[in-house]
Amino acid sequence: MLQQTQVKTVIPYFKAFLLNFPTLKSLSLSNEVKVLKLWEGLGYYRRARNLLATSKILVNEHNSKLSKNLIEVKKLPGIGDYTANALLAFIHNEPTIAIDGNVRRVFSRILNKNEKKIDFKNLIETNKKHLFKTKRNSDFVEALMEFGALVCKPKGPECSNCYIKNTCKYFKSGKKFKQIKTLKTKIKNYNLFCYIDKTRKKIALTKEHNLGFLNKFYIPPIKESSINKKIKNWNFHSHFKDSISNKKLNINLYYKFSLKIPRQHQWFSLKRNNEFIPSFTKKIFKQILKIT
Ligand code: SF4
Repeated sequence: MLQQTQVKTVIPYFKAFLLNFPTLKSLSLSNEVKVLKLWEGLGYYRRARNLLATSKILVNEHNSKLSKNLIEVKKLPGIGDYTANALLAFIHNEPTIAIDGNVRRVFSRILNKNEKKIDFKNLIETNKKHLFKTKRNSDFVEALMEFGALVCKPKGPECSNCYIKNTCKYFKSGKKFKQIKTLKTKIKNYNLFCYIDKTRKKIALTKEHNLGFLNKFYIPPIKESSINKKIKNWNFHSHFKDSISNKKLNINLYYKFSLKIPRQHQWFSLKRNNEFIPSFTKKIFKQILKIT
C-alpha cells in the first residue's frame, strides 16, 4: 500500500484491510471484487490484484510460507528486486538491502559519486562484512530507508546532525558530485467520450480500452489524441487535467445523449454498482451528470 502512497493516506485503508483479512489465508479465500472495493481510492490497483494473487499462491502452493530464496520470491506477482529484498530482510532477517531511491542517494553521497557510476549489487557484496555485522538485518534495512528519507534528504541533507559525516565524502569534499535530475513525467492528451442516458442518469462504460494503468477497469470510451476541441456528432464538455498512478493526463471531455451504445459497453449509474468503479470514472460521472 505504501508504494508511491503517503503513510497518512494508507493508514485507514490498512486498518480496514486487516479487519477484513486478518490472515494470509483469509485474503487468499477472497476475490478481486472484494479486495478492489477495499482498495477503492488508493489507486495503483495492480498492487491489490498482485497481493491477492500472491496470497493464493503462497497458501495453495507454499503452505503459507515465503521462501528465503530471492529468485523464488521474485517469481511472485508484482514482486521485483526491491520488494523481494525488503521481504527477505523484514520477514526472514536475511542480510540484504532493498535498494530504493533513498538508499541509492545515501550511498552515492557517502561515496560522492553519481548513482549511474555505482554498481550497487557489487558494492553491497564487497562490503557485506561491514554492512551486516549487527545481525539485526531487518532493522538495518528499515533504518537505511528512514535515514535517506529523514536525514540524507534529497534536498538539504542534514549533514551537521549526521552521525556518519566524518566518513561521508560528499560532506568532506569541496567538489560535490552532481545529482541526476529526475525526468519530468510526460503529459498525454486524451479525448473521453460519454454516452448519456439522460432519463436514468446513466453513462456507458467499457473495460475495452488501452489505458494500461486502468487495465480491466470500467471507464468511458477514451482515445489518445492531440488536442482538438471539435469532434463531429459530439458535444464538447470541458477540458481538465488529472493524474492516475504516476501518469499525467490532459483530458477533453465530450458527451452525447444517446440510448445506443457500442458493443462491449454497459450502462452504469453512480450508485448501486456491484462492479468496482475507479475514482477516475466517478469524477467523470459527477462532472457529466451536472448537465442532465
Ligand atoms: S553527511 Fe550529509 S550527505 Fe553525508 S550521509 Fe550524512 S546527511 Fe548524507
